[in-house]
Amino acid sequence: MDEKLHLLVELQKLDSDILTLRLKIDSMPSHIAAEEAPYKEAVKAFETARQQQLSLEKKKKDKERLIEDLTEKIRKLKARSSEIKTNKEYQANLKEVEAVEAEISSAEDDILSIMEVIEAASKSTEADNARLAEAKAGVEALNKKKEKEIRFIEQELLSLKEKRKQFSERIEPDLYKLYMNLLKSGRGLAVAEAKKERCGGCNMNIPPQLFVEIKLGGTIFQCPQCRRILFYEKPALENNETAGRN
Ligand SMILES: [Zn+2]
Repeated sequence: MDEKLHLLVELQKLDSDILTLRLKIDSMPSHIAAEEAPYKEAVKAFETARQQQLSLEKKKKDKERLIEDLTEKIRKLKARSSEIKTNKEYQANLKEVEAVEAEISSAEDDILSIMEVIEAASKSTEADNARLAEAKAGVEALNKKKEKEIRFIEQELLSLKEKRKQFSERIEPDLYKLYMNLLKSGRGLAVAEAKKERCGGCNMNIPPQLFVEIKLGGTIFQCPQCRRILFYEKPALENNETAGRN
């Protein structure tokens, strides 16, 4: 292969590797978000349970306040009974006291049921807490792993960029400019393999005469369709034949 072309092929390999690594780093946040989903669900469950707990505590307090008020009402009713003169009034007062006492008893029953629910809820809150802690530990471990991965990839990128610099310095400025323009227009692929009379970049047919010339090498050829620089790689079998003949 022509030395100029050989350098471009090598540069393309490096740029493709660099691009792959950059994409890997760019896709990292969405990977992390996907794996963080169980943790976020656990946080949500925990919050919901906490809100329920608070609302139950408030209901219990309301009932306790109601009992206080009713107890005060009974105290007043009983105090008034000393002023009662007739049996009819006495009966009415007694009935009222009994009604309030029934209200108190019902409020006490309510408090007992609320306390049962609170107890059951606090058990499930414990389970939520455990799940939350587990999910949190998972996310932290994952973040650590990803950070390590990113650091590793960044190291790799540095060494690839260093290699790339050395290669690009050996390429003629005009050819390098062409390569860089094609890299941009070709979405990361400036140099493509010509195989079976097709361009590996755009997959269009290469005219037979041009394909023969590309096979012979010696200079830089571009795809008539996408303008990418084309190279021809001899199949392994042909190489062996050549080696055998020599
Ligand atoms: Zn092409």
